Amino acid sequence: MPTNQTFVIVGASLAGAKAAETLRDEGFGGRVVLIGEEDARPYERPPLSKGYLRGEKGFDAVAVHSADFYDAHDIDLRTSTSVTALEVGSSEVTLDSGERLGYDRLLLATGATPRRLSIPGAELAGVHYLRSLVDADELRQAITAESRVVVIGAGWIGAEAAASARRLGAEVAMVELASVPLERVLGPLVGAIYRDLHIEHGVQLHLGVGVDSLRGTGSVEEVCLSDGSLLPADVVVVGIGVIPRVELAQAAGLELDNGIVVDEHLAASAPGVFAAGDVANAFHPRYGTRVRLEHWSAALNQGPVAAKNMLGDPTAYDRLPYFFSDQYDLGMEYRGWAPIWDQVVFRGDPATREFIAFWIRDGRVRAAMNANIWDAGEPIEALLLSGLPIDLVRLADPDESLAALAVPAKD
Ligand SMILES: Cc1cc2nc3c(=O)[nH]c(=O)nc-3n(C[C@H](O)[C@H](O)[C@H](O)COP(=O)(O)OP(=O)(O)OC[C@H]3O[C@@H](n4cnc5c(N)ncnc54)[C@H](O)[C@@H]3O)c2cc1C
Repeated sequence: MPTNQTFVIVGASLAGAKAAETLRDEGFGGRVVLIGEEDARPYERPPLSKGYLRGEKGFDAVAVHSADFYDAHDIDLRTSTSVTALEVGSSEVTLDSGERLGYDRLLLATGATPRRLSIPGAELAGVHYLRSLVDADELRQAITAESRVVVIGAGWIGAEAAASARRLGAEVAMVELASVPLERVLGPLVGAIYRDLHIEHGVQLHLGVGVDSLRGTGSVEEVCLSDGSLLPADVVVVGIGVIPRVELAQAAGLELDNGIVVDEHLAASAPGVFAAGDVANAFHPRYGTRVRLEHWSAALNQGPVAAKNMLGDPTAYDRLPYFFSDQYDLGMEYRGWAPIWDQVVFRGDPATREFIAFWIRDGRVRAAMNANIWDAGEPIEALLLSGLPIDLVRLADPDESLAALAVPAKD
């Protein structure tokens, strides 16, 4: 392995840290510089709306690596450092200190940032976003058992934050434009399960309604809905989606389209430049189109794949998309990708909250979610990978082996 090369990784989070780890695992002997603007070493974000937010986990439990990992692997981790410019012509990045750093390979793992609310009152104190450790610490400080929390947006972050705030004893209202929580990914049927779950746990849901403004003197006191309702609030959590952080890539002239455009090898449009994680809109060979995933597992697995490609070992990223969510006592895993579907088939009774939902398109399973069932991952994955036409009656029958459905029927 060459030792005179410098590989630079921008974004010291899950994708970036896993890429750095893989470079060393694969025997790269050159310089690895991992640059992140946050002041903590790389950590995982999923606990920030779950156990970390509720104070059940500390930083060490959410860090990607132990504190001594980076020195031990000769990884030059630069925290509290921003990359302010990228020049692909000269293969250089500029740091906020003014230092210029040449690279032989560059990985952009700059992630995503929360979409901001742009209504009157959005800048009031007491309005929170939830992306970083600092955000989670501030939100944790703000929520007490006496708080009146209004969550704007019932997507994954909003729904999990609402569940955690309830677990902390706060009064919680959640406002969502769609007719049920999580509708965009799960659709109305499965979204309704989450609607009922939140209602059961005492969340006041306002569905099919928008937010017009936030009011308060200095800090937020009231959330004004488009139907005229006024919700008292001393904490507002905004979870209305994220935007990929493409600033550097854009200024450098890289091809963009809903993120940084990369091929199945996670290579961007300039030589030696790669992208991974939330920021990458990667061509997915299984789907024949580009898919940008905002999932923990994509960051976890794309980082290593990018590293292999940086080392000249052509490796396609073709994993099935996977994500998970925990709300109250409902844990779930979702596998596959189903931007559109014809119908949803249930195995098990959704009312018991132990079931599998399958999203069907053209007679095939495109995605599946196992809720509070933890031994179904492998057969579901096999079923999705098989791409076989499926007998929907057998699929719905809990007595039929899922594994058997994943192999072609013998005549
Ligand atoms: C609260 C929360 C809960 C979540 N829960 C789940 C879950 O349950 N399941 C699931 O599958 N996914 C979940 N996710 C999503 C998952 O955490 C993300 O998909 C994952 O963090 C993406 O990792 P990444 O490394 O691509 O980007 P990020 O984690 O966004 O990291 C990018 C890093 O790059 C840094 N950076 C950006 N630009 C620069 C620059 N110019 N210079 C220096 N540094 C820069 C940023 O500061 C950041 O530290 C959750 C996310 C959040 C916020």
